[in-house]
Amino acid sequence: MPINLTANAISAINPVVQVLDIKLIGTTQERYRLTLSDSESTQQAMLATQLNDRVKTGRVRKTSVIRLIEYICSTVQNRKGDGKVFSFDLLDSGGGEIRVTCFNAVVDRFCDKIEAGKVYMISKGILKPAQKNFNHLKNEWEIFLETTSNVHLCPDEDASIPKQQFSFRPISEVESAENNSITDVIGIVTAVNPSVPILRKNGMETQRRILNLKDQSGRNAELTLWGDFCNREGQKLQELEEAGFSPVLAVKAAKVSDFTGKSIGTISSTQLFINPDSAEAQTLREWFDQGGKDIASQSISRDNMPVGSKNEIPITFIKIDTFCYTACPLMIGDRQCNKKVTRSGNSRWQCDRCNQEFEECDYRYLLQAQIQDYTGLTWMTSFQESGEEILGCPAKELYMMKYEEADDTRFSEIIRNSLQTIYVQA
Ligand SMILES: [Zn+2]
Repeated sequence: MPINLTANAISAINPVVQVLDIKLIGTTQERYRLTLSDSESTQQAMLATQLNDRVKTGRVRKTSVIRLIEYICSTVQNRKGDGKVFSFDLLDSGGGEIRVTCFNAVVDRFCDKIEAGKVYMISKGILKPAQKNFNHLKNEWEIFLETTSNVHLCPDEDASIPKQQFSFRPISEVESAENNSITDVIGIVTAVNPSVPILRKNGMETQRRILNLKDQSGRNAELTLWGDFCNREGQKLQELEEAGFSPVLAVKAAKVSDFTGKSIGTISSTQLFINPDSAEAQTLREWFDQGGKDIASQSISRDNMPVGSKNEIPITFIKIDTFCYTACPLMIGDRQCNKKVTRSGNSRWQCDRCNQEFEECDYRYLLQAQIQDYTGLTWMTSFQESGEEILGCPAKELYMMKYEEADDTRFSEIIRNSLQTIYVQA
């Protein structure tokens, strides 16, 4: 059978790629580094340690063709061949957290050095305001590394620095949290629904699984797991639940959604901890076992709306090459012209309808998305407001990101995140 590799897979959403090489690295913890090819370019990839057995058992080896369902791009080469980004998040013993980012040539200096769970001393970094669209850490600043910056591993790890830091919100507070905000939640899993496949246009599937979480605040909420979370943690939670143990689940960095009531869902950077060894987990466990179990609580999610209602439509695919157009900003009477405009010779924009030129044009979404409703797969077109709601940022911002800054990492992150939203038909 002929095998077709996905050309330009590095920027695609679920690329099919070939493994050219596998290297074992890491001294304290085994890690595998893969060299992946999409037939046009190659890319280094670190395998998540929980997938190490795929390599050990020979399921993934040199020349294997694999499909990447869930991955984080920390270093991406764009079409011009420059524009690499690498970032990592730091915690300190005072309870603080901050993101560290570097670009281009500096990436090669630091990206192999940094290992999760290790302690580092960083000097001569530059502080810049945090980019809140992409960075949900509780810090107004980000550290940027330059060629003159230094990163030193501190081998005598300081036990006062936490390995993981949560700022849990009671479920009753999630009820008033802003849509798309990122939050940490801890609760008892009281129900686990089966994993449901969601089909994408190209025949690829992703999984969705809905759980119910309850805490001492008198509220419960739905937590939607996407992709690998469904089979990894989701399966384990289901087994625990079926065996009569209601596990404690700590959720780091989930996204708040308010399409139907309030609920939370996983994003690619979410981390789930089942029965974590922490004071909060223990308090919750005791509360639940000593009667909390039987206390009625009110759901903040989908009031009276059963899961899988026909109004609830997951977006399964977005056409990215034509997501927006350049529009005429001039007013015709009380309405904006909005006709598609093109560059005139002198780098200004030209509207054929108004027969005028101007410096700045408008950017309007014309988003073609594939949705899966109860009848199957269909296409819908979203204009300015709903496009902005789906993607969570103005069309102009996304246009600049893709065409001016050529920031493919961020662009595909936004597209990926939007696939995790559920669009509800009015
Ligand atoms: Zn016009």
